[in-house]
Amino acid sequence: MAYCPTDRIEYNDEIDECLVCGGPLIEGVVETLFGEVDENDWVELDPLPELVHAVKVRDALDDDNILCHIKAEIIQGAEYCGSQAIVFVQESQYDESLEIQQGIAPPDDDMFIVDPDAEDDW
Ligand SMILES: [Zn+2]
Repeated sequence: MAYCPTDRIEYNDEIDECLVCGGPLIEGVVETLFGEVDENDWVELDPLPELVHAVKVRDALDDDNILCHIKAEIIQGAEYCGSQAIVFVQESQYDESLEIQQGIAPPDDDMFIVDPDAEDDW
């Protein structure tokens, strides 16, 4: 795993540069950025079918001073490029965060969702 410290986005191993800012990724997990936060307090909001939605949610959460980061799974194939992104927040701020996300990126079951359990088959 590697992450972009500017965008607070962790990517799967196939990705070598940040898809949002184009900057280099740092090896490791994105939680490293939040040194003093208990990693067990992170909870995930509903998965989003595109990274761009997650970035908008992150910006809105930042405006409300809610701690958050993003984990993105990007699939790049010869004829297809898909993504799934999950915004993580602190459990104590889950309810307000989910409300903010749903106001920005309502769930859409018709869009492509990566099965996280299929990761090893890529
Ligand atoms: Zn970035």
